[in-house]
Amino acid sequence: MKSEKKPKNLRLKSVNIAMFGYFCLLSVLLILLVDVTFYLVMEATLENQALTRVKSVGEEAAVQTSFSADPERLAIGFSRFREEGINIFLFSAEGEQIMPADIEISQNRVEEFYAHAGELKQGENCYYRASGYANYAACVQYLGGEAKLLVSYSLSFIGDAVGKIQLYLLLISAVVLVLAFIISYNLSQKLTRGLKTMSDTAVLLAKGDYNVSFANADYNEMAQLSDTLNYVRDEVKKSRDFQREILANVTHDLKTPLTMIKAYASMIQEISGDNPEKRNKHLQVIIDETDRLTGLVNDVLSVSKVSSNISQLNKKVFNLTEFLYGIINKFGYLSESGYTLMVDIGSDLYTLADEEKIEQVIYNLLGNAVSYTGEDKTVYISLKKSMDGTRIKLSVRDTGKGISKEELPNIWDRYYRSEENHNRPVKGTGLGLSIVKAVLEAHSFDFGADSEQGKGSVFWVDFPCVPATPE
Ligand code: ADP
Repeated sequence: MKSEKKPKNLRLKSVNIAMFGYFCLLSVLLILLVDVTFYLVMEATLENQALTRVKSVGEEAAVQTSFSADPERLAIGFSRFREEGINIFLFSAEGEQIMPADIEISQNRVEEFYAHAGELKQGENCYYRASGYANYAACVQYLGGEAKLLVSYSLSFIGDAVGKIQLYLLLISAVVLVLAFIISYNLSQKLTRGLKTMSDTAVLLAKGDYNVSFANADYNEMAQLSDTLNYVRDEVKKSRDFQREILANVTHDLKTPLTMIKAYASMIQEISGDNPEKRNKHLQVIIDETDRLTGLVNDVLSVSKVSSNISQLNKKVFNLTEFLYGIINKFGYLSESGYTLMVDIGSDLYTLADEEKIEQVIYNLLGNAVSYTGEDKTVYISLKKSMDGTRIKLSVRDTGKGISKEELPNIWDRYYRSEENHNRPVKGTGLGLSIVKAVLEAHSFDFGADSEQGKGSVFWVDFPCVPATPE
């Protein structure tokens, strides 16, 4: 036999790689988001701080300039702020730089200054940002005359601070990426290990080892998957057992009648051929056994037809009362053998169902009741509309041995035959009730069996009650 290879799809990505990719992408996005937000917030805060500081230093310098009579002391006072990166310039009314004497301001910045401060009158001031400086400009009084004051704060420290933070963020990013790699690798290993184990177990199952168990994994979804696979294993096992059982049962059931037929045919040939009385008796056995074989074959066919969904339901509204009477009439021949069918049937009750399949159901139920009823050989059949008028209940009651509580749930299984009843000379195949169940479940009708040992059983079906369609 050719061994089948497992299909492999090489175009698919590995969970390991996909997970690492997504982790890294997520980490990079997060880092970028944090980086940009931090950068913007940081820059805005530092710039605000610089403006506030330049304003307070400017106001202080303006007051000192106005009240100072000693240029040297004033210059010393101004130089105090240099450590912070704040330079204070004083220009005469003619535009000459008065102080500080040791720092030359660029022409470009002087022009910017006059563009903002040129129009200022004494006591007025303004703020502006230009060429990487936060500036405070004011027109002040100086030694009895008028002078222009410029306090400028270099914003280069912001760039330095942001640069440092970016370096830290870069380092953090590297650490986060390494962590992302480690976490994603471990996580994907853990996930794929579980999947790989399940896949290996499934291969064993496919090879026919039904004792395998799909281990419950750590994660909810994986645990659900392993539960489902365990369920599949059980179902496959059941189906295999069922197939074996069917084969064994059918072979067994075919063997007995065939042996009987052969035996009686030989007997006719050898012994009773000339004796009409004996010959007829033997022929009757052959006919009975042939009937039994036909019944068995029909039942097996019905079961496979009903279970494979080839046969769709062909529902229509029909008169269940008349239909039931029709079937009961077919059982009429039983009266010759002393059987009594007691009926209590409501008139003109209509239902919606597949007539042909329902006939099989009723036939099987009546057949069983007749087969299993007690010594009084009586079967009670009732068909009644429910109080609310929506349902019709069919009950078939016998007075036989009944079915034990333990056995009651099993009687609907294929090939189930009660041990106790097995020995009875009843021509059962153990398929009848499984056909009943399959048909009624396909219709979604309620049905069931109640039984009391020693008193008999009642099999019932609830049909929907529908109005008669106009003829
Ligand atoms: P069978 O062909 O053996 O009757 P069924 O599927 O119709 O198969 O029934 C399954 C089993 O359920 C029977 O073998 C019998 O043990 C039990 N059973 C069915 N109907 C009755 C009944 N009316 N009274 C007692 N036992 C019953």
